[in-house]
Amino acid sequence: MKKGVPSGLYAALKDILFPAACLLCHQGLGRAADVLLCPGCAAQMPLIRPPVCSCCGREFPDAAAGNHLCGACLRNPPSFSRARAIFRYNKFTAPLIYSFKYQGCTTAMRTFTVLLARVPTLGDLREKPDLIIPVPLHKKRLRQRGFNQALELARLFFPGEKRRIQPTILLRSRWTTPQTGLDGKHRRRNLAGAFQVRDARRVQGQRILLIDDVLTTGSTVNECARVLRQNGAGNVEVLTLARVFD
Ligand SMILES: [Zn+2]
Ligand SMILES: [Zn+2]
Repeated sequence: MKKGVPSGLYAALKDILFPAACLLCHQGLGRAADVLLCPGCAAQMPLIRPPVCSCCGREFPDAAAGNHLCGACLRNPPSFSRARAIFRYNKFTAPLIYSFKYQGCTTAMRTFTVLLARVPTLGDLREKPDLIIPVPLHKKRLRQRGFNQALELARLFFPGEKRRIQPTILLRSRWTTPQTGLDGKHRRRNLAGAFQVRDARRVQGQRILLIDDVLTTGSTVNECARVLRQNGAGNVEVLTLARVFD
């Protein structure tokens, strides 16, 4: 807020200069709102609801089932103990992620915070991690994009936790080709040796919450969790904005 400008006047000017529009269908919303979604798009927002896999957070179709482990987590337990996401990534929500990740559009961020508070499955995550670590970008990618979207999300989701948010402990030390289009096996191979812990003493016995924008196959966060645990981390949980389900 600008100093010396009455807040009502400021809000009115802002509404005139930057009229609020639905982030998905772009229809005008009248006044600025906390959630930049029209009623129709808000109703269609695919928030993730229980029952889910108690480990990876995969949704189960049978509403009466209750949380349990999915087949994939039983066969191949991941290095993280839990992963949760706010909404499903699909054709409908993809533009939200795209504008945030590639166009540096921060208009959606307030909407993300409000959605975060509405997702019941996030209660499964621990209340207070010792460290909140955004999935790092390679420095070359960071230069291209200008910001790490995972760090922006960490700051947004945990506004009072500046000290716990640690973007420099985990490094992406090896350049990897984009994961898009690779299957699970090739994603894992592509990521081998990509991450490094800079100072193992800082993760010893720590409860860590990893943050990323989209969880696709889980290979990236799983590799981060594996490296963190190999370096002595106690427990690793994952929070992402969106989650792809096949
Ligand atoms: Zn809309
Ligand atoms: Zn699972």
